[in-house]
Order: sequence, then structure tokens, then C-alpha cells
Amino acid sequence: MSRAEVSRMRPPLVPLGTLIGRELRNEKLEKPFLKYGQAALAKKGEDYFLIKPDCLRVPGNPSTSFSVFAIFDGHNGISAAIFAKENLLDNVLSAIPQESSREEWLQALPRALVAGFVKTDIEFQQKGETSGTTVTFVVIDDWTITVASVGDSRCILDTQGGVVSLLTVDHRLEENVEERERVTASGGEVGRLNVYGGNEVGPLRCWPGGLCLSRSIGDTDVGEFIVPIPHVKQVKISNAGGRLIIASDGIWDALSSDMAAKSCRGLPAELAAKLVVKEALRSRGLKDDTTCLVVDIIPCDQPVLPPTPRKKQNMLRSLLFGKKSQSFTNKSTNKLSAVGVVEELFEEGSAMLAERLGKDFPANTNSGLFRCAVCQVDQAPADGLSVNSGPFFSPASKPWEGPFLCANCRKKKDAMEGKRAGIPTVTA
Ligand SMILES: [Zn+2]
Repeated sequence: MSRAEVSRMRPPLVPLGTLIGRELRNEKLEKPFLKYGQAALAKKGEDYFLIKPDCLRVPGNPSTSFSVFAIFDGHNGISAAIFAKENLLDNVLSAIPQESSREEWLQALPRALVAGFVKTDIEFQQKGETSGTTVTFVVIDDWTITVASVGDSRCILDTQGGVVSLLTVDHRLEENVEERERVTASGGEVGRLNVYGGNEVGPLRCWPGGLCLSRSIGDTDVGEFIVPIPHVKQVKISNAGGRLIIASDGIWDALSSDMAAKSCRGLPAELAAKLVVKEALRSRGLKDDTTCLVVDIIPCDQPVLPPTPRKKQNMLRSLLFGKKSQSFTNKSTNKLSAVGVVEELFEEGSAMLAERLGKDFPANTNSGLFRCAVCQVDQAPADGLSVNSGPFFSPASKPWEGPFLCANCRKKKDAMEGKRAGIPTVTA
């Protein structure tokens, strides 16, 4: 009997030494593997998605791999969704210092996501097109999941503990009171559409523009207070694994997070994605573009994600909290930490660049130039905005406390904060 025949007859044996080694080794060393599936039904054809497994932090070194999954739900055309799909990942990666260790890379990622989103938005605006897009952008590195989002596409996490949590925040003016306040404070007006002699209809929108979202990439024709600065959340799941469901609002207008998670538990990712779409359509019909990605993060010694045990508390929670309830998010998130299923590493949603980019001041010592924290362009300090530049917009303005920004990105920052154009040039 040949060796091939023998191996076909019985499962491959794992030497005892390997088994003991696995037990002894730190769990972090065991890389999980990913299985994923995608399903979509188009109504307007404005949903796009990105699946990019096996990206490398260090070129040529497979042990530095990470994966990216994203959904872009376009509006007023498709060009912003396509542009973000093609450029956002590169713009994020270029904002991470080269030769970072894995830990440094993961730590720099939330800030790089902010820089990459803003850079992509600035570049798209320069094309002079008016369309816009939501973005839900997920980076998976071993057991660490980092999600950055603008708009109302969502990413949920279903852990093996049976707890479903939301990793994104809905930037819909209708749902998000903080965002309404920010938009109003920056000079926008929030209200419903007026028809038939003053009757208000539809969701809350911001004016000028009439967009129902408070954050997006693109949307050149609405106020600059519709910002591309993402909410970012970074979590580490246990080595039991978990499932991510990333989907456009066509799913979430029909299904709560719990319903989506439950509708496909125990099924392989490919089938799960199809089932979530089917379930959303069953309850609501095809009213919008409906796109769903399912990503299973699976311990490497298991062929599939084991079925999640059903718990009474889950059913109770789904009765208590309806879809899109903020309290549901918070409670389930707290719950996650409490049971030790998920370690929360980072969460920040502020729309202020100064709070998102940190205060470091990366200077290129060789050239005497500073690097812009958003677009990574090197510029002489006199041309940009630095920590020490002090108040100069008006005596009432607070001094800038963020890192160096080039003149172009500084203009963008001011516009997003509702400051008028025509800012005097800073001279050293
Ligand atoms: Zn810049």
C-alpha cells in the first residue's frame, strides 16, 4: 500500500510533541484561519465590496499577513464607492510607519484609518464629482479585529459565547443625537423634507444637501460638516473564534443584529451570507441594494466554526432591545468584556481631527521637513500647521493641538469644523 493510500484511509496523525507544544505555546502564536462568503442583490447597483485576504505587513513574509473586508454603499452615483474601494486601503497603509512590529502596527492602525479616510475624501473631492459613499472597513490580524466606519453600513460580531455585538456606530442623523448636535454646531441645518405646505416627511436630513448621513466619503455638494472621519473600534476575540457579519443598510433596515446572527448560525460562511440576504428580503422585499459579507475567524485546529450555544439571555435581550437601539449596543458591549469573550482594545468616534491624530510630531530629521499626518506629504513647517502655531484663525479659536498638517489638509480640517474658507496664511 502506497503512502498516499494510507493517508487517504485515516486522518493525518499529529505527533504527541506537537500536541504538547500547542498546549504550552501562547495562544497568540496560533494563527486562526478565515473562511468567508459574500452575497448581494442589487436594486440601484450602488453597493461595492472589497475582499482582500492575505495582505502582508512585511512584503515577502507570509507570517505578517492580515485580511481586509469592506463594504461601500454609494449614493448619488457610484464614483465615490469605486474610488474608495480602489484607494482607501493604500491610503490607510501609507499612514502606518514602516518597519513597525506587529504590536506597533496594530496600535498605529486606528490613527492610520482616520488619516486614510480623510486623505481618500480629499482626493475624491479634487475629482470634482458629487457622489458619496458609506464605508465599513474591517482589518483582521490574527484574533484582532479593527473596524472603521462612516455612514450606516454595519459590522456585527457573533462570538462563541453567544453574544452579538455591534462594532460600528450608525451615522444617521435620525439615530444619532450627538452627530445632529455636531452638524448644527458646524453650521449645518438638520430637518425633514418639507412638502405639501409645510408637512414634514422622511428621515432627518442635513441642509444644504439633504443627506440623511452625518459622515461619508465624497458628497462634495453637501456641507463639509459631513465628515469622512470614521468611528474606529478595535477588539481582540478569544481563541474560540467568532463570526463577523458586514452588511449594507439593505440588511439592517430589515434585520436586527441578533436576527442576522441567529439566522445563519452553524452554517458555513458562504451559505450564511446568502441566508442573511434571503432573510432580509423575506421580511422586507428588495427595497435597496443589499450586500452581506460573512467572515468566520476559526481556530486553526478546527475545520469550521463550532455552532454557538444558545443562551436564554440572548433571547431575552433580543426581546428587550429592538434594532438600532444604542442601549443595546452599550449593554452587549459591556457584557462582552464582562464575560471575557472579547477584549476591547480601542474605541473612538470623535469627529475632531485633533482628537484622532494624536499629538506626535513626526519630523524628517534629514530634510528638516515635517510629514503631514493625513496625506503623508513632506512640507516645510512654515507652510503647514504645527502644534506650536497658536491661535491664528481668530482670537477666539483654540490653538491646534494635533500633529503637523500640510496646508491642503489644514484647509480640509477647518472646513470640517465649520470654519470659513479664506483663512490667512500662517507665516513662521
Ligand atoms: Zn496633508
